[in-house]
Amino acid sequence: MIELPAFRVGVEAAERELRHHYGLVGQVAELGSQQDANFRVDCSSGEQYVLKFANPITTEIELLAQHEAMRLVAARTGVHVPTVVPGLSGAEVHRSDVDGQPSAVRLLTFLPGEPWMDSRYVAPPVAAALGATAGRVSVALQDFEHPGTDRDSQWDLTAATAVVGALAHHVRDAGRRARVLTAAAEADAHLGPVASRLLTQVIHGDITDNNVVFGRGADGRPVPQGVIDFGDLMTSWRVAELAVLCTSLLHHHGASPATVLPAVRAFHEVCPLSEDEAAALWPLIVLRGATLVVSGHEQVDLNPANSYALEGLEREEQMFDVSRSVPIEVGQAAVLDVTGHVSARRLPTAGQALVPAVATDTVVVDLSVANDALHPGRWEHPGIERDTMRHALDHGRSAAMTRWGEPRLTRAVVDRTEGSETVALGIEVYTGRVHDVVAPWAGNLRQVGADTLVLESDGASLVLADLTPARTGDVAAGDLVGPTIVDVPLWVQHAFSTHLPPRFVSPVLGTAWLQLCPDPTELVVGPTRRTSPTESGLLRRRGQAFAGVQEHYFADPPQIEVGWRHHLIDVSGQSYIDMLNNVTLLGHGHPRLADAVAGQWRRLNTNSRFHYASVVELSERLTALLPAELDTVFLVNSGSEANDLALRLAWAATGRRDTVTVDEAYHGWTDATDAVSTSEADNPGARGNRPAWVHPVRSPNVFRGPHRADSGRYADEAVADVEALAAAGRPPAAFICEPVYGNAGGLALPDDYLARIYAAIRGFGGLCIADEVQVGYGRLGDWFWGFEQQGVVPDMVTVAKGMGNGHPLGAVITSRSVAEAYRSQGYFFSSAGGSPVSSTVGLTVLDVLEDERLQENARVVGEHLKRRLDELAGRHLLIGATHGFGLYLGVELVRDRSTLEPAPQETLAICERLRELGVIVQPTSDRQNVLKIKPPLCLTRDSADRFVDALDEALTHGW
Ligand code: PMP
Repeated sequence: MIELPAFRVGVEAAERELRHHYGLVGQVAELGSQQDANFRVDCSSGEQYVLKFANPITTEIELLAQHEAMRLVAARTGVHVPTVVPGLSGAEVHRSDVDGQPSAVRLLTFLPGEPWMDSRYVAPPVAAALGATAGRVSVALQDFEHPGTDRDSQWDLTAATAVVGALAHHVRDAGRRARVLTAAAEADAHLGPVASRLLTQVIHGDITDNNVVFGRGADGRPVPQGVIDFGDLMTSWRVAELAVLCTSLLHHHGASPATVLPAVRAFHEVCPLSEDEAAALWPLIVLRGATLVVSGHEQVDLNPANSYALEGLEREEQMFDVSRSVPIEVGQAAVLDVTGHVSARRLPTAGQALVPAVATDTVVVDLSVANDALHPGRWEHPGIERDTMRHALDHGRSAAMTRWGEPRLTRAVVDRTEGSETVALGIEVYTGRVHDVVAPWAGNLRQVGADTLVLESDGASLVLADLTPARTGDVAAGDLVGPTIVDVPLWVQHAFSTHLPPRFVSPVLGTAWLQLCPDPTELVVGPTRRTSPTESGLLRRRGQAFAGVQEHYFADPPQIEVGWRHHLIDVSGQSYIDMLNNVTLLGHGHPRLADAVAGQWRRLNTNSRFHYASVVELSERLTALLPAELDTVFLVNSGSEANDLALRLAWAATGRRDTVTVDEAYHGWTDATDAVSTSEADNPGARGNRPAWVHPVRSPNVFRGPHRADSGRYADEAVADVEALAAAGRPPAAFICEPVYGNAGGLALPDDYLARIYAAIRGFGGLCIADEVQVGYGRLGDWFWGFEQQGVVPDMVTVAKGMGNGHPLGAVITSRSVAEAYRSQGYFFSSAGGSPVSSTVGLTVLDVLEDERLQENARVVGEHLKRRLDELAGRHLLIGATHGFGLYLGVELVRDRSTLEPAPQETLAICERLRELGVIVQPTSDRQNVLKIKPPLCLTRDSADRFVDALDEALTHGW
């Protein structure tokens, strides 16, 4: 059964055999192999082959079976496989004798693509593509029969336990050897009940990351192209095909047991797994991992010079360790879950309430994102869980009980590197006092640790912790097991597992863990409606009720219901650093703003036709922030409205309509602002369908436009355009532009750009609008307004977004004379613009900005962040440039630093990966290849570092 060590064939011998059997001459280079000798052949005619010398142990009939299988897979699936090339004699297999070693020689076509030889990150779509590939091969081979497939192989998982036992002595480290043997025994025990019912068929037996050849998708991720190496073809369990693939994913960067689930789901879609197969998969993954470890050690023992085997060992140990990082039952439950099977487990029937004194008077407390009392930010306080339970007893109730399966907001960790363990696998019962706890059913009571008891009965275990154990041994239902401890909640948890499960797990495998630890609520309060820890099709409902053109971030978006400072938290309690929300200038959930708004709502909310202080104060505060000539304020509700109004003011003041804008811009969605929005990312038809009064000038993109070296030419061209318009009898009424080019990715405009165009526009009596909606209000760090960076004073400034910290609030600030021009249009009124509530928001935002020195924070943290991003750019070729100032930055990703070919698909895929790593960021610019970085201004240096580390991780280990 145990295979021979690798045997060696020299390049010269390979060339000789190639000439002799195939009449071919070419460049011959050795390829690594654990058991055979393989050579890549490049013929001068351009044809490429693989010349294979089979290990002497392989019989001809086995080789012929492989050839048949390859033909079947090629004919029945879209999966590419090598083609067998017959020799001069017409035979597919040739006997040879190289240096006294008998061998069989074959020639196969070379399959283009690269096997995956490193441990880069496997993204879920990549795992899924691999699973589907394995599924298709399985389907193609399902009725294949051939005498060459019945072979003894150490890779046959039907015999894995024996193989592990026989080879374990090669693992020198006693601890590790014991772990491998224990794992194999446990896996074997889990396999036992289903083994006899598993489907048997011919399988490839080694569809792994390095027996699949990959191309590269547009997003830079590997795409499976074909399957090679049928050398392990055998009759075995069908599900073993999938187990082998899944195991091979576990050595990749950041792999966890959940990494395999997309592969399982995709395999199951192509080749449906029975419930028994689903139950067998995880034990087989463990056995495959154990087999790889012992075989790896065996290979190194037999041939210490086999560097291929030596390099493999670390990966093999990694695969085994990850397969063992959860109990087998959890892996099993996860697989059953994704394949639509349920693992039904029966609990004993409770004859007694667990804490009889409180059974009828227990209130349930909510520790999820939905509990109002946990905001703003109170969920972070130490002791908040206990306080919440204590509070629940204020109204004379006897006990408070937490919810099973609830992802607790109180367990969310910010600036996380891994998932937060938020999902409660049991419940807590808090009485504040000492009460008797009794056995709900008969069983054997075991003490584990000072304050923990486990009641075992019929394969189920009930964990009772944080109490004072009163006894151990056999108990009957109703027997006292121990009193609770004063002011300490009793922990109650079911466990269908040989190991004591954790109390909290991350949501990734939460559903699987919950099957092992079913709901114990009934034990406390009697029969109850079961709580379902999962949410129902919210995204589908969004698609049905909400206009589809209002798109959402991410293909599979987290449901985010909590914001706190510069963090966002989803319903499963996972936190994300918010690098995206420029609107939330002060940060999320700001208590001062929330209190001010609530107070104003309680007092008054009317509109600006009434006379009240806040609208006056806000207007004064805004003009005080601007040069003296900008002394008059209009208050509206959004950036679109502000820009729309500014355009109408310009048209009214000049009596003209022609308006100059820049390419690649966004200014809003209303009719007029959409007209001056030239961004093709926002409107793919933007270039072709602007109304005749809109005159775009070239995008002053200093990174990738035609005038990189001589960026002054952008202004030359724009001024010439303005002059040409005037010469044609259409002097522009207005020029609108962001003073730092936010929509293009946070690029600085060329020096003097605005000064020169403003002069040209004003020379013809036009007005200049600075759209400060994104970049103004302190975000740039060194300047409160973007126009200050350009050294100009606009005729109108538009503001929104951060001005209201997310509350709908916008403004146009201009001179009295321009404002008066509106009278020719009638009067101006915006129902909610400048209302008492909106004005209060505006004032409080300005107060907090000042008091918390947020502009200064944007400067300091922004500088640090930019420095770190520049350092990343030095190490990762994909980063073409970093742009911006303060906390308005852009990281532009390019495929080639000389052609600047944009990398939009990579950018999007990297955003998906960053989300997994706990960061929310999105692409921007017309090419969608710039990571737009515009976080709340309260961003800390730690979070900035965490973001850069996550980006570094994605760029280093793949996405
Ligand atoms: N101007 C700029 C520069 C913007 O980025 C935006 C919004 N993305 C707007 C105007 C429009 O603002 P709002 O969405 O508040 O209407």
